[in-house]
Amino acid sequence: MTRKSRTALFKNARLRVILVVVTSLLSLLAVALIQLNRGVHEQIDALATANTDSVQWSLAQSDIELLSLSNAIISAIADSPPSLSSVRTHFDVFFSRAETLRNSPMLQALREDSEVVVAMDRIDAFLSETVLLVDGGDQGLRDALPVLRDRTTALRNDVRLINLKGISILSGASVSQRSKIAETLDLVSYLALALFCVLVLSSLTSLYFLSQASRRAVEQGQIRSRLSAMVSSALDAVMAVDTDGNIIAYNEAAEAIFGYRRDEAMGQKMEDLIVPDHFKEAHRAGMERYRKTGQKHVIGKGRVQLEARRKNGEVFPVELSIASAQSEEGEIFVSFLRDISQRIAAEQELIEARDEAVAGEKAKADLIAVMSHEMRTPLNGILGTLALFDTEKQSPKDREYLEIIQASGKLLLHHVDNVLEISRAEAGKIEIAEVVFSVPALVQELVASQRGVAEHRGNTLSTLVDAWEESYAVGDATRIRQILLNLIGNAIKFTRNGSITVEAKRLSQHDLVEFRVTDTGIGIPAKDHERIFEDFVTLDPSFSRAVGGTGLGLAIVRRLVRALGGTIGLESTSGYGSSFWFRVPLPATQQNPKEQAPDTNTRATGRAGVARPMKVLVVEDDRINRVVITDLLKKDGHEVDEAFNGQEGLDAVIANTYDLVLMDISMPVMDGIQATRAIRNAKPDGALPPIVALTANAIPSEKDRFLAAGLDDVLIKPFTPEALRHILIRYSKDAHSRPELDLSYNSTFDAMVDHNHLEGLSSALGQGKIEDLVTSFIAEADVAIDKIAVGLASDNERKALRETVHQMVGTAAFLGAEKLRTTLAQLEEDIVEDRSLGTDVGQELKIIWLKTVPELRLHLKRSVSDHTP
Ligand code: ADP
Repeated sequence: MTRKSRTALFKNARLRVILVVVTSLLSLLAVALIQLNRGVHEQIDALATANTDSVQWSLAQSDIELLSLSNAIISAIADSPPSLSSVRTHFDVFFSRAETLRNSPMLQALREDSEVVVAMDRIDAFLSETVLLVDGGDQGLRDALPVLRDRTTALRNDVRLINLKGISILSGASVSQRSKIAETLDLVSYLALALFCVLVLSSLTSLYFLSQASRRAVEQGQIRSRLSAMVSSALDAVMAVDTDGNIIAYNEAAEAIFGYRRDEAMGQKMEDLIVPDHFKEAHRAGMERYRKTGQKHVIGKGRVQLEARRKNGEVFPVELSIASAQSEEGEIFVSFLRDISQRIAAEQELIEARDEAVAGEKAKADLIAVMSHEMRTPLNGILGTLALFDTEKQSPKDREYLEIIQASGKLLLHHVDNVLEISRAEAGKIEIAEVVFSVPALVQELVASQRGVAEHRGNTLSTLVDAWEESYAVGDATRIRQILLNLIGNAIKFTRNGSITVEAKRLSQHDLVEFRVTDTGIGIPAKDHERIFEDFVTLDPSFSRAVGGTGLGLAIVRRLVRALGGTIGLESTSGYGSSFWFRVPLPATQQNPKEQAPDTNTRATGRAGVARPMKVLVVEDDRINRVVITDLLKKDGHEVDEAFNGQEGLDAVIANTYDLVLMDISMPVMDGIQATRAIRNAKPDGALPPIVALTANAIPSEKDRFLAAGLDDVLIKPFTPEALRHILIRYSKDAHSRPELDLSYNSTFDAMVDHNHLEGLSSALGQGKIEDLVTSFIAEADVAIDKIAVGLASDNERKALRETVHQMVGTAAFLGAEKLRTTLAQLEEDIVEDRSLGTDVGQELKIIWLKTVPELRLHLKRSVSDHTP
């Protein structure tokens, strides 16, 4: 029961009690009044019957009648012969009067008076004696006449006494009777007054309740009209149905949205009107369940997204919320429906636009990656060949030319690296490593390596490193070196005959370390302090041209600093030098860097020794590269075989024994990854040579991919002769055994896909078939995973997802997408068991999917390179 109806009921009960009390009070008063009225009437009647008067009259008459008797006796004595009949008549009259007086109830009180009793007795004695004479013969009566005369005369005093006493008693009685009536009348008037008061009171109460009721009626009228104004002006369709599903309210927005006029819709079954066929069953079941069990699944549960149907049959998406309410006709359901077809369409457009943009971005990134690959390969040729020149034998002029070619090649490589770095940063692919290193050592080493260049321009380069309390710091030393190199490079570039200082100090708070590169060069105007960090900004084009610069250096530096979780800034005055600083978190540690795993960065710049002579197979399709590598190796005394593609490489490894295989990745016929796998399968473990990938693809995640494919190491092109020597030294120590690290698929690499399984499938079904399957799976799963992730967020849709999840489990298993399969299988089980799911399940699933896609794509890419000539 609602609070409102309870209050109303309570008020009614109170009203009823008041009414009962008032009515019974009024009836009591009325009964009392009627009773009293009757009493008054009786008393007045008693008074009005004139009993007293008749008794009084009887008393007076008795006196007269005695006198008449006496006179009759006297007359009889005087007459001769005496007339006795008159005596007899008057005696009878007096006798009956005396009888009346004796028996009258009115005279009861009189008879209690002692004097009256004596007088009465005397009268009784006279009457009883005389009656014998009167009733006897005439003679006897005649003789007794004189005696009778005397006795009647004597009796007159008695009769008078009775008379007087009677009058006094009777007058007393009527006085008391009157005062009684007066009292009763008083009571009547009090009661009447009370009745009046109660009546007034009840009228006032009624008046109060009446005014209350009419005020409420007015208020309710206002609320009703306000409500109906709200409902009719609502932008959402508002529709109410009774428990049978009949429409009992339908607003203007509903008319606009569904296309039915109000008069068409009212009284109709909502199900027939707007529920699309495929929802009807669920709708009916829901209503039925509610009627039977009172269970509500949608009602009062907030917004749900469903579909509805318009008059023209169009099915469209709606957002719906249903509330239940009590009305005079019982329970009703009020639905608020919002047409979200436009929103959904807009979202779809946005998704498509985003996908297009993402695809565009990806195409751009791919282009840059391909270009950098394509540019790095010939650069490798140029720089590698230059290293082969025996400069001693050249003429000074030629030597100068060679130096120019080398400088230009390096600059070109620098630009290519910059562009690659930017595209990598844009793709969010800056990978941050954590190593233990010494900050002072890093600064010292850098300054030492740049001192020559600085001095070349007349600059002094010095360090200012605060006393370093802790031994080491944890962070990405390579990135910090890269940032500092850039800033020192700029300082040298824009300073002539000045001084440059490199500082490092640990800030007292947190784990922050501040690095600062200060120069006394040309400085930067304040207005450009922000701008110089943007892409392709160079302040003085003529100067920049003179010193060389693309305006990307600081842009890369800022991205790197941000990727490290730091901030960057500068203080500078035009003409007086600049001071660039950056702060990055570098927690201190006592761990010794030597305890760390060896750095496998093969682009070492230091001078390496020469390895003992080894037998090396170079698998490389590009003639220039092949020649360069072969000559570099031969120069160091190694024996070299050449192979032109993966297949030839495989054949050579099967036929010979090598200490090392240098394997290009992208090759026709059979690429480096396929060849590596084939070699691993063909050769017994003990006879396997180490295989090092040669690639221009400098993206770290690619390196992981190669290692995962069974390659032992990666040498990034273009590489220096020193880097090549490092590799030779590394594998010369123990040329016939695999490196200590197990680099097979699933240990170093959290593999999402069982590549062996997919390989097996591809050989069984044919590569084309597998590619079709993988391509369509990627497209379908992209949609399905999104759908699942969205659906998981809402409890209602979870069950409906089961089917999709189940299908995906099957396909993922078929294609060997192992991680995805186990995750989905767990999810399916949780859904079936109705277990509560963590909030991040959808997100986790998406992440797993995002990691799975590139691995699946490997199986597409490879076939693409298979077909490239
Ligand atoms: P660039 O490759 O041209 O050096 P940067 O992004 O590194 O590009 O620098 C952008 C511009 O900022 C430079 O062209 C130069 O005008 C200015 N700049 C950078 N460092 C300094 C410095 N230490 N002194 C003066 N100007 C500098």
